[in-house]
Amino acid sequence: MIPFNKPPHTGNEEQYVLEAMKSPQLSGDGPFTKRCQRWFEEQLGCRKTLLTPSCTHALEMAAILIGIEPGDEVIMPSYTFVSTANAFALRGARIVFVDIRPDTMNIDETRIEAAITPQTKAIVPVHYAGVGCEMDVIMTLAEKYGLFVIEDAAQGMMSRYKGRPLGTIGHLGTYSFHETKNYTSGGEGGLLIINDGRFAERAEIIREKGTNRSQFFRGMVDKYSWVDIGSSYLPCELQAAYLWGQLEMAEKINSDRLTSWLAYRDKLSPFAEAGVIELPVVAETCQHNAHMFYIKVKDLEERTALLELYRKAVIWAVFHYVPLHSAVAGLKYGRFSGRDIYTTSQSERLIRLPLYYGITGAEIDTVCGKIKEWSEKN
Ligand SMILES: *Cc1c(COP(=O)(O)O)cnc(C)c1O
Repeated sequence: MIPFNKPPHTGNEEQYVLEAMKSPQLSGDGPFTKRCQRWFEEQLGCRKTLLTPSCTHALEMAAILIGIEPGDEVIMPSYTFVSTANAFALRGARIVFVDIRPDTMNIDETRIEAAITPQTKAIVPVHYAGVGCEMDVIMTLAEKYGLFVIEDAAQGMMSRYKGRPLGTIGHLGTYSFHETKNYTSGGEGGLLIINDGRFAERAEIIREKGTNRSQFFRGMVDKYSWVDIGSSYLPCELQAAYLWGQLEMAEKINSDRLTSWLAYRDKLSPFAEAGVIELPVVAETCQHNAHMFYIKVKDLEERTALLELYRKAVIWAVFHYVPLHSAVAGLKYGRFSGRDIYTTSQSERLIRLPLYYGITGAEIDTVCGKIKEWSEKN
């Protein structure tokens, strides 16, 4: 049996979680949270970062921060996780879906301009598989039309676009530390990355239930009270302690994943050259983090057959994203701009292969062996 994912565990997480349990502060914004946030601020060179209970929450904070109101429109790909859209729909926005590129599965930057209307407030590029969207084009459009850019970099920690870390290019960015991502804060977690300094102060308030509690603790105000809307968007110290164990090993986790990703690519290249499958495309401008190894087969029928072969071998290969625009809520809260040329057709071809920190070469061989077997039968 080969699982699809194993949450990374590098060794020191237990010690740090125990340390947090024994400390006087178990609620949010304790020493581990501060340590993690400082690490990110140094690594990313951004204005400010805030740990959140999930990437979903970081996206919700972003929607509040840019002042989304009913009637505003937000542009994003339809091929993404529900949270990308939900965060903005919750504030009353209409979601405008744009087709993806068939090579990277990222939003097609050449189709964004046609989707812009006087109601458009933001563009939300999603860096699929930790491979950067064409951010130069997107930022130029945003400047031309006065739009905000929120990078959904849930899958993108340790990845770069033209040398810049994903999540640091738009006005705001978000990471996920869910157990299926490259780094986890004990199962669930996220990060809000603030690049535009205008948002720094208000972000702390929104995260602290709409109070100026953070300023109070810094001695900037003499009492704290309700000053804005907000929610409980800060994680507890146990989550930050777990994450700290992983941040210390960030490079080790990254290089382990990259090695496994390259092993998949090398083993599967002959099948791609023979036209049996397609492999992921990474542009020269992008440094990726091996978040995902996916292949594409001819169509839905082939995918169903190959997944069945994996299921019988107890190898957990999976597929994902039923395109949002054709889902029940997508029909209600959004619309597709232009034609769906690639979103649906490409999503039906995609299979994600098992990939996690510590996956062995023998396991990768077994997974690839099934593709050989399947290609010989076809
Ligand atoms: C995982 C993911 C999210 C949600 O992350 P959570 O931390 O589980 O809330 C959002 N967007 C994308 C693209 C993701 O892959």
